[in-house]
This record gives sequence, structure tokens and C-alpha cells, in this order.
Amino acid sequence: MATRRDNIELVWSISELSSLFEKKTNIDGFLQDVVDRIAEHMQSDVCSIYLLDETTRSLMLRATRGLDPASVGAVHLDVGEGITGTAVKELRPIREARASRNPDYKYIPDTREEQYESFLAVPIRRGLNRIGALVAQHRRPDQFTRQDTRALQAIAGQLASTLENVEMLMELHAGPGDRVSPAAARLPTIPCHPASEGIAVGSIMHLHPLDGSTEGSLELVHDDEERAFREALERTDGQLEAIQRELDERIADLANLIFASHLLMLRDEEFSGQMISAIRDGARAHDAIRQIVGRYVDLLSASTNPRTREKTHDIRDLGQRLLRNLRGDADEHGDLRGRVVIAHEMFPSDLVRVSAQHVEGVILTGGGTTAHLSILARSLEVPAVLLRSADDADLHDGDLVAIDAYEGLIHRDPPDAVLEQFRLAREAHRGEGARVAPSPATTSNGVRVELLANVNILHDVEVAVRVGATGIGLYRSEFPFLVRNDFPSEAEQYRIYHRITERIGDGPIVLRTLDVGGDKLFSDTQHLESNPFLGLRGIRFSLAHPELFDEQLRAMLRAGAGCDLRILFPMISSVDEFRLAKGHVDAVLADLADEGLPHHREPRLGIMVELPSAIECSDDLAAEVDFMSVGSNDLVMYLLAVDRANEQVESLYEPHHPAVFRALARVIASARRHGTPISICGEAGGDPAMIRFLIGCGLRSISADPARIPAIRSAIATISSTEAEDFARRITALPTVDAVAACIAERR
Ligand code: PEP
Ligand code: MG
Repeated sequence: MATRRDNIELVWSISELSSLFEKKTNIDGFLQDVVDRIAEHMQSDVCSIYLLDETTRSLMLRATRGLDPASVGAVHLDVGEGITGTAVKELRPIREARASRNPDYKYIPDTREEQYESFLAVPIRRGLNRIGALVAQHRRPDQFTRQDTRALQAIAGQLASTLENVEMLMELHAGPGDRVSPAAARLPTIPCHPASEGIAVGSIMHLHPLDGSTEGSLELVHDDEERAFREALERTDGQLEAIQRELDERIADLANLIFASHLLMLRDEEFSGQMISAIRDGARAHDAIRQIVGRYVDLLSASTNPRTREKTHDIRDLGQRLLRNLRGDADEHGDLRGRVVIAHEMFPSDLVRVSAQHVEGVILTGGGTTAHLSILARSLEVPAVLLRSADDADLHDGDLVAIDAYEGLIHRDPPDAVLEQFRLAREAHRGEGARVAPSPATTSNGVRVELLANVNILHDVEVAVRVGATGIGLYRSEFPFLVRNDFPSEAEQYRIYHRITERIGDGPIVLRTLDVGGDKLFSDTQHLESNPFLGLRGIRFSLAHPELFDEQLRAMLRAGAGCDLRILFPMISSVDEFRLAKGHVDAVLADLADEGLPHHREPRLGIMVELPSAIECSDDLAAEVDFMSVGSNDLVMYLLAVDRANEQVESLYEPHHPAVFRALARVIASARRHGTPISICGEAGGDPAMIRFLIGCGLRSISADPARIPAIRSAIATISSTEAEDFARRITALPTVDAVAACIAERR
């Protein structure tokens, strides 16, 4: 029997296989490799993969080791049929010591599987999407262990991502004529490779190469070719000098490296002299440029010295600039604000140029200089990503995109919510002041208030660090789910959480479990509810989908090893619900310990206080949980029964309502009574009047969007905690919204 260690190796080996697959064209060969490896590692007599056929909605045997090879492509199972079909239908693994005793067991004739008693089937799924099943069988009864189940699940997770790409890849290999689904070519989110981290929002602009492919457009005949050439030469010289001047000091050395050699070459009489001679011999200016540049490129690329060979880029770059200037291209000095440039090949100087022109971001679709370009893009702070092929992404000039160059995603026509997050993140990044050392805020009378950051996308972590947040008070883990409209696998979630935990170091890191539902909907995967805000939201969704919940908890606990990890459950309405959620954490902790995987062993578990029921039970909850975080955004909505997205009632969404103040005072008092740490992570935490009130009630921790932290820090510095106590007492006694407004105005 395979040991646990073998299983971990097996997972690695499959993930390696998955990455290799990207280079292959044959899915059946790939699947066969996978079953062969699994069967060998697990020493099982049989390993098979079934995939769901979208048209027939049945599971087809696509690869097997051990069953009759002739049954591949011939055996079908309905979802829900047999043990395998049941595992897929119910999205849970099924392990049987004696398969024939399971009432669901269905012997498939011609496969000769009746000889195998041990049966282990795990679904291959992407979130709630069923993709297929992975099945291991063995002659000897009771062969498979829990660890085998786990290993097979991990492999199924790995396969799910690969198989998802299979369809797309198959299409690419099929060629344009055979493409089956045009929808796939216009994916709302295009995966890409991060080259230079950052966030960019803008409309697409193609940067066309001026090589042979655009020759036609350059067939300009000048009255006086030599004069036209000399003018282009002069313009180029002026531009190179101007670009060098325009670039700020930070990259002056870098820019110099590029442009000094360009200038040197340009001013080299030999270089331009040969072009002029060619023109005098009757060549047109653009042909003369191409001819001489070509000659230099050939010469340099024949060199045995790699550094000399690299110079060919400079020569070609310079040649292109000359050609552009000969053509009188207007974009040389254009402003690229609001633009995301997409280019098949980009030279370092192109990148510096577009950076100087304030481009928002860059998408590269090929070319050989990517490694250098990435480094340069990072220094220039130009977010950049690499895309395998522009055709696959089908991006056109003018298309609005949001690039997440942290994660490697291009969002096409991003929804407003995503756009807003990106804009905020980008502005925060640009509008940064000086870097602040991590520190709490202090009231005018010396009381410290912890300042934590709300994080939606990884970029926020950088801003959080810059503004001196002492930790992460709320990581909205649903964000990667929502922007992709998909469920990332455990491995993908782990990678994201790990990026946060490794960046934050000592401070607290509060990871909130999935908070979908309400207005945070997946377009395809969630059922329409007539009243989504009162439906399967937050913790209810997680508890209803334990397989997703556990997967997320595993990713969080693994990423949190060695950190001050805190796990926050959204939409908790009772102690009972908290206990159910905690039960999952306990079970996952036991599994991780069993598997010997590094993980956080004693995470603090907390709740969002955002429902009226949680306020009513705040004393009991405070006694039970490790920490509380007030979600004022939802609390105001549920307390006042106002949907702020509904314009008929939006004016009734009033955070300064007496009920809100009293609810806040009550929950803070409960927390203090039980010594339970409490913070606020809703937007009210950024409102100066509310901050005064909260400090007056005894709250000493605020989590807010990092961009708002500097303003919150300044607001706190003007507040005296003793005066704030008096303010809070007065506010909680007021009967009307008007009276509250008057009291706040009086204090200004
Ligand atoms: C809140 O409800 O205040 C909160 C912080 O959670 P979210 O905005 O993510 O619902
Ligand atoms: Mg909320």
C-alpha cells in the first residue's frame, strides 16, 4: 500500500503532468498518463477517468488502466448511476471496502470490473460544476484508506483546472475553422501570466509593428527622400533626448542604458551615412532604413558574444522609431492615459516610451524579450501581463479591460463593481503619500486604536503595508470567486492566501470565509432566489456546500501556518450557526494533522456582526467566539430593512439612525463584558462622526479600505476618548435621525 508520503509525491507528479499537458495536443494521451501514474503510485489494480459529456449529460469512460481498454469511449454512466455516478451527482467521494455490497453498485458489463472489490470514486469538479470522476479499484477488499481519498481528491482538484483548459486548448489546436464555441474565445476573464505586478484599467490600443506586415502603409513616396529621411533623423534624435529628460530619476539609469546607445548609434555617421548613400543610389527612404537596419541586425546576430547579439533589439527598435517618424506617426508623443497597450513584440524603449506617455498597462502577446521587459516593466511600475496569443483573447481596439497583473487575469468589459475596486486600488497606489511604518492610531489623549486594512484584491495588501496598517482586518475571500465567476481550487486559494500571509508577517490576518449571495452573485452557478438578501448568503452558502467550505478552510489553514491567522464567518445569526462553522474547522484541522501537512493549529474564530439576530444574541456570541467584527454595511441594511441598491428606498439607508447607534453600542458593550476583541470593518468605520461614537463606546480597532486609513488616522488624532464617551452617551439617548444630525453638527 502506498504511504502518505507517496501520495503527496503523487499529487506533485500529477500537477507536473498537468503543466506538461499545456504543451501537448492529445487529451487522451494525457488522461492515460494520469491513470497510469495514479495506478502505479497507489498500487491499485484499476484507475479510470470518466468525463461528463455536455451534450448527453452522461459520464464517459475516457481513460483506464486495468479495465478492458476497448471500453474506453464506449462505457457511459448517467449522473447518479452506480457508485461513480453517485459520487458525481452528490459531489462527494465514495470509498467502499466491498463495492458489491453497496446498493448503488452497478456492474458494467464488458469491463471485467466484477473482480475488483475495493472502490474509491471522487468527483472531479470545479466549484459546483461537475466535470467527471476519478475512480480507483482493487481486487483485495478494503484496500483504500482515508489518505488515499484525500490524495485522489487533491489530484481531482488539480485535474479540474487542467481539464477546464482542455476544451479551450483543443479549440486552439483545431484551428479557426473548427472552433466549436465562440463563447469560449470571448471569455469574460482571460487568464494570462503576470509579468509586472499592478492593476490597470483602460481601453485596448494595439501597438502595431512596423515590420514587413505593414509594408503597404509605408509605401510613401516623398518628393525629396533624402530631406524626408534627414527630418525623420532629427525628430528621432529630439524624441530620444526628450524621453530621457521626461523620465523621472528613479529610472534615469535604466533609460540611459537604452537610449544612450540608441543616440550613439543614431549619431553614428556610418549608420545614417549608409542610409543616405542608399537613398542617393535611388532607394526610397523607408527601404534604405530597412536595408541598413537589416544589414546591422544580420551582422550583430552572427556574433558569438551574446551581449552583442542582444544589441539587435536596439538596432531594430531604432529602425522602427525612424520608420515611425518618417511616416509622421502621431502617437509618438500621444498621451496614453486610460489606455492599455497590447503588442505582439515590444522593445524596452517602447515600454519606456509608453510608460512616459502614462500608459495604464501593457499586454504582451509574444516576442522574445519578455524576461527583460518584465524587469523593466516592474521598475517602471507599469502593470504588464503576457498572453499566449492575442487571437485567443480576441481583444479589439477600444475594448474596456481591467488587468490584474498580480494574479494574471484580464477582465473584459468588467462589471462596475470590479471596475470600482480596481480604480480605487489604482488611485490608492498612485495617490500614495510617504510610506508609514506600521502603527496604531492615537487619540488626542493618547488612547491607541488599531488600524487594520480591508483587502479585496492582492494589490490592496501593498497599499495596506504602505499606509502603515498593522494587519488585515478583513480579507473578502469571495473576490477572486466573483471576479472569475468561478470557484478557485484549494491550490489556487492557497496561493492567494499565502501571498497575503507572507506579505503581512507579524500582524493579525483575518480571512473571511466565502460571503456570496445577496448582491454578490455568481451569474451562472447560483440559483435565482426571489429574495437573495434573505436567502443562501454568507455562512449559509458555505454550510450548504460543505465540500467548498472545507476546501476553503483547508487553503486558509495551510496558508496561515506560522501567522496570526483569524478566520471570520460572515452572516452569523446564532451561536448554533457559529458552532456548526467551527465544527468544520475542527474537522479540517484533524484532517490536516492526519495528512501531516503544515497548517495553523489554533486559529482564532470570529463572526461578522451584521444581522439583527446577532445583536440580540451579542452577549451569548461574545461569550462563545474569539473575536467579533461589525459589518455595518449589512447591519444597517438588515436593521433598517433597506436595500440601498433600490433607488425607491435608498434615502432610507441611514447609518446615522438611532437604531444603528444603539445596536453598535450594545454589541461593543457585550464584547467588552466578555473581553472579546471587537472591530468594525464596514464603511461606517471611515466616517468621522461614527469613529468618535465608536471610540466613545470603547471600540479600539477599525478595519477599513487601505486608501482610507490615512484619513482615519488623522480623524482619530483629533478625538479625545473622554469627550467621545460623552458624545456616545448623548447620541444613544437621541430619539430621531434629525436629533442625531444636530448633535453631530454641534461637535464639528
Ligand atoms: C459589511 O457588511 O459591513 C462588510 C464589511 O461586509 P461586506 O461589505 O463584504 O458585505
Ligand atoms: Mg457584509
